[in-house]
Amino acid sequence: MVSAGTVYLVGAGPGDEGLITVKGLKLIESCDVLIFDQLVNDALTGRVKPGCEVVRMGKGPELKDSVSQDEIETLMVERAKSGLQVVRLKGGDPFIFGRGGEEMERLHAEGIPYEVVPGVTAALAAAGYAGIPLTHRDHSSVLTFLTGHEDPTKAFSQVQLEELARMGGTLCIYMGMRTLESLVSRLLAAGLDPDTPAAVIQWATLGRQTVVRSGLSDLVSSVESAGVGSPAIIIIGKVAGSPNSLDWFGRKPLAGQRVAITRSRNQAGELKQRLESVGAEVLELPLIEVRPKMDSTTVTEVFAGLSSYEWIVFTSPNGVNYFFEIFFKAFKDIRSFGGMRVAAIGASTAREVQKQNIEVDLLPEESVSESLAEALIETGSLPSANVLVITGNQNRDVLARTLEQKGEAIVDTLQVYETIPTDLEQLPEAKDFREHGVDFITFTSSSTVHHFYKRKAELIPDGGIMPTTCSMGPITSKTLRSYNLPVDAEAKNQSLDGLLEAIIDVVKADQ
Ligand code: SAH
Repeated sequence: MVSAGTVYLVGAGPGDEGLITVKGLKLIESCDVLIFDQLVNDALTGRVKPGCEVVRMGKGPELKDSVSQDEIETLMVERAKSGLQVVRLKGGDPFIFGRGGEEMERLHAEGIPYEVVPGVTAALAAAGYAGIPLTHRDHSSVLTFLTGHEDPTKAFSQVQLEELARMGGTLCIYMGMRTLESLVSRLLAAGLDPDTPAAVIQWATLGRQTVVRSGLSDLVSSVESAGVGSPAIIIIGKVAGSPNSLDWFGRKPLAGQRVAITRSRNQAGELKQRLESVGAEVLELPLIEVRPKMDSTTVTEVFAGLSSYEWIVFTSPNGVNYFFEIFFKAFKDIRSFGGMRVAAIGASTAREVQKQNIEVDLLPEESVSESLAEALIETGSLPSANVLVITGNQNRDVLARTLEQKGEAIVDTLQVYETIPTDLEQLPEAKDFREHGVDFITFTSSSTVHHFYKRKAELIPDGGIMPTTCSMGPITSKTLRSYNLPVDAEAKNQSLDGLLEAIIDVVKADQ
């Protein structure tokens, strides 16, 4: 008999993927089965190892496809009994209104080993990201977490509300949006001052976080006019009256803006992180996929003759990364790279080369093949020189041909990757884009524009709004214009920082 795997009841935190614990993330990355709830950030569930079984489940008044609690527990138990390591990932903390207690009891009863990894619960996160200190030496020294979800068989009794009103301090209400009106009137009836400060924080910690503040008696109308609903935390008490100026998250330049990234997922990370750091909510919509692709005979030949090349040319960051991946599979020692001089197109390509502790000898100011070819020819070193060009599957011949014809060089091309269109049918983010839209869409290369144009009708249905477009530079902008697509903003100096600045400028101009 196989010995049972362990079930880890892990808190995923409130939304911002950075708010999971280090321990929780390590378990997600190593588990065999991941069972998670609807409110858990997809970025976390995407961190599983290849082959991990990923099951989306969940219960709750706000979830449509509710699965019974018993089904969830049974699945956990079955998988663990077959010897698999199971992570049961729950929004916030597993033991705060998350039914983690029941799941633990079931595991215990079935004799399955389990561990609990706490998480940042929504109330702590909402308060932190709205600049509301839940306790304060001057205002509150008692803190209560309660649920506003009215279980018809076990309604929160008026007596309890009266006690809470009398006790004062801070109230944090989970699942209270549907019953907000009755909650507020019951609290007022229980004796709470109508001017008691209150705040509602929806989608806390995410780019779409919205905060509504008002006195208790006006809370319902304020929430209605702001159009705020679930999921939200309601905070009632003097601390909720902290000045708006302390709302550090809402003050970020792209707060409330939803931005789509269309580049391949393996390249999206840095841009995503930068956009989020200035408050944007990012939707990854990878219209293209980049994957290693090479001909092994050519690789063997090129590597055998590596010392004969005078120049190696890298045309993209992907080229650098895939080249060194195969290089270090073939050679143990960087000295096998030899004395080739290195040329690169684009600052980000150069940066990837430098990460290998190799200096770039030639980096033309303009990030296009023509400029690189010219700059190489100008060095006067080309006639009869052997040049190795590292490429993907696109535009692979232009550079080689110019170097051969104008520069009289002997050029070998080594393809190490290919760019292919993503299957949008299989992409949950494409559905999200279609249904909810975005404020901005970023294009970092012409290939993302080609694929966007081809699939535009699927992504933006008739009558849908074209988001504000932001392009990485003149070439991408030219491609956009060639399809009659707008170029609303263009990055200065073709860098991610430039892209960010361009988006921020548009937002500022609208304010
Ligand atoms: N175990 C979770 C709570 C689950 S109950 C935790 O510890 O946070 C679901 C409720 O949590 C929602 O109705 C809402 O009140 C709150 N919630 C969860 N995520 C939230 C978020 N990002 N912003 C605001 N409230 C959130």
